[in-house]
Formats: sequence, structure tokens, C-alpha cells
Amino acid sequence: MSTTSHPHAFSRYCMHCGQRLTSAVPEGDSRRRLVCMDCGFVHYINPRPVAGTIPVREDGQILLVRRAIEPRIGTWVFPGGYMDVGETAEEAAARETLEEANLEVTDLVLVGVFTRPEPGVVVIVYEGRAVSEASAGDETSEVGWFGVDQIPWGELAFDSTEWALRQWVARRG
Ligand SMILES: [Zn+2]
Repeated sequence: MSTTSHPHAFSRYCMHCGQRLTSAVPEGDSRRRLVCMDCGFVHYINPRPVAGTIPVREDGQILLVRRAIEPRIGTWVFPGGYMDVGETAEEAAARETLEEANLEVTDLVLVGVFTRPEPGVVVIVYEGRAVSEASAGDETSEVGWFGVDQIPWGELAFDSTEWALRQWVARRG
């Protein structure tokens, strides 16, 4: 799945009564929200969870995929994407890895949780054991295996990509 669309694309209109929403601080609240002045409905916008894996091969190399889509087309990232309702974070991370790199991962272990306050995503990152071959999948132009000293730090997609990889490297010791 993609990180192409803005995670908080939303309607300007009330989902209950169809009136245009207004930016206002609701009573008892402290932040501006999208509020329907007609029926009182408050449209809360919450961060969205993204789940991904840093797949590790038997020789210790990790898999990254090169993005074939915007944003940050051409940069490297570990496989990941938005969670779907009905799946766990681990399932989402494994599904995204299969979709983007045709790679099966098992034995997921949490690396960390990384928040990007703008645009409002919480990235949940697991290390996973790679148990199949990999190839470019949806939304990727290339897959690459990297040793710890080969990680393309200058060509990573997002801050959270770097944070998670640095955390993974630090833990590995
Ligand atoms: Zn309304």
C-alpha cells in the first residue's frame, strides 16, 4: 500500500448533515477542530499508523526497496505502509513487505515506534527474518540488500526511515 496520498485527506462537509465544516475550538476543547456549526459534529483528525519491516537475511544483510512513486520517488526505504482495519500491526508489516518486495518475513520483533507529527503518522517498525527471495513489487522499482556499512544514509525516503534504521543498527551493536 502507498504513502502517496495525504494521510488526512478529508471532506470539508459534515458527514451527518452535509453542512460545510468550520475550523473552531469546540467547547471544553483546547485545539482547533473541524466543526459542524449546524449539528455540532466534530471531525477529529488523528495520526495514522504505518507498519513496516526491516527484513534481515541469513548473511546479516537487510532489504530496502527503491520507491517508484511519489513522494520521495527514487529514494530507499524499508517496506511498509498504512494498516488496514482488521489486521494487526505485525500482519500489516508482513503484508506490506510481501506487496512491495515479494518477500516473506517471519519472527517479527519490534524495533521501535517513530512519530512524524507532520503529516501525522506513527510508524511501527519490526525486524523480520527474510525467508524467501525478494523482487520489486508494487510501488517499487528495485530491491537491494545492504550490509550494515552499506546503508544508503544519504538516499533514504523519510526521517522515520533513518530513525528506525539507526535504532536497528544501534541495537545490533
Ligand atoms: Zn452537521
